[in-house]
Amino acid sequence: MNAEIIAVGSELLLGQIANTNAQFLSQHLAEIGINVYYHTVVGDNSRRLLDVVKEAEKRADLLIFTGGLGPTKDDLTKEAIGSHIGRPLVYNEEALKSIESYFIKTKRPMTPNNKKQALVMEGSTVLPNDHGMAPGMMVKGEKNLYMLLPGPPREMQPMFIDYAKPQLLNLLEKVEKIESRVLRFFGIGESALETEVEDLLLAQQNPTIAPLAGDGEVTLRITAKHESEETALQMIQETEDEVLRRVGEYFYGYNDTTIARELVGRLKETNQTIAAAESLTGGLFQSEITAVPGASAIFNGGVVCYSNEVKEKLVQVKKETITVHGAISKECAIELAENVRRQFDADFGISFTGVAGPDEAEGHPPGTVWLGLACKDKAPKAFKLELAGSRTGIRKRTVKFGCHYLLAEFANDK
Ligand code: ATP
Ligand code: MG
Repeated sequence: MNAEIIAVGSELLLGQIANTNAQFLSQHLAEIGINVYYHTVVGDNSRRLLDVVKEAEKRADLLIFTGGLGPTKDDLTKEAIGSHIGRPLVYNEEALKSIESYFIKTKRPMTPNNKKQALVMEGSTVLPNDHGMAPGMMVKGEKNLYMLLPGPPREMQPMFIDYAKPQLLNLLEKVEKIESRVLRFFGIGESALETEVEDLLLAQQNPTIAPLAGDGEVTLRITAKHESEETALQMIQETEDEVLRRVGEYFYGYNDTTIARELVGRLKETNQTIAAAESLTGGLFQSEITAVPGASAIFNGGVVCYSNEVKEKLVQVKKETITVHGAISKECAIELAENVRRQFDADFGISFTGVAGPDEAEGHPPGTVWLGLACKDKAPKAFKLELAGSRTGIRKRTVKFGCHYLLAEFANDK
């Protein structure tokens, strides 16, 4: 099944609001394996709406409309579609009752146009509106399936999740099961990753592979369809194995996890603890780690050592280290990591020292970072990062690199 999303509303064309409904719906349709080939936006005008509908009917199985279900004159979606496919509008008793009780509850007089909101196309499946008055609906036409949803996102989103999506899944599952899994990567750019799996991307049909990049990370969503759930999962597994054979060193987890959560998980599994000394990240690493429930089992504590004085006094970095090499140096990063590990009696010590920008420091451009890693019974390591982007972006990615290099330690131990 493929779909076209048709957002109805002149305010969209005037640029007063962005079409976030299409974004939301596309994301959720992709998850259940429905391909969206077109987003269309049209004003509150019956003739132009019908022009759009006729085009969409030719190129999509499912037409999803948002907006124009309300009580006012410019709300004309169901009227236009209803007359186009020959479905008269009839009152839906339940919707009528809930609208009436809303007016009784709020002690407001009900105007006749509000009753209009309870009208639905004859023979349609009604999608209840738990956050507003106008119900949505789904109806089968001669060749196409039509779904009408309200415009306000706070009404449309829960209606889609709670009522429309299960209906769609029901329809789809009569034909085939859809399974999907997201693989998350860090430390490799989007284009580098795509190059590694380019042949798979080009050949993809079932399973499909959809890459997405953001926040310094790349994800691949693998979606497979098959009559049997077991076979669909097996197909995903085979694609995943092939992807990980090529770029497995950058893979850190599945679906909605975060790299910090994976790190906490690995530390817990192996019964190890960590401490941190943070300069440019100002505590961001410790904040990310402690945001994960159960972090107390693995996180001993740490220091925000922003000034050189604190690096020396509190984390006991040698004065010569800073005068000879600078605070943004391999030597300083290693001393910070080793000392904080010892001071907090942890298995791992990590340190971050660098320039978040926008100005340079010690002659280094923004994005120059040294990351120190001390592990019990092993020689310390340091990694140099050369990041681009905003101050916030540099700090966030520095923290993710910290998690990434720590996770690599576990992989090396295997
Ligand atoms: P109402 O009962 O509130 O009139 P409706 O179903 O008639 O709802 P519209 O009148 O078309 O919907 O839009 C109502 C509001 O919903 C808009 O002013 C806007 O804030 C929001 N909205 C409509 N369409 C979209 C869209 N595509 N993306 C994001 N927000 C939207
Ligand atoms: Mg309206």
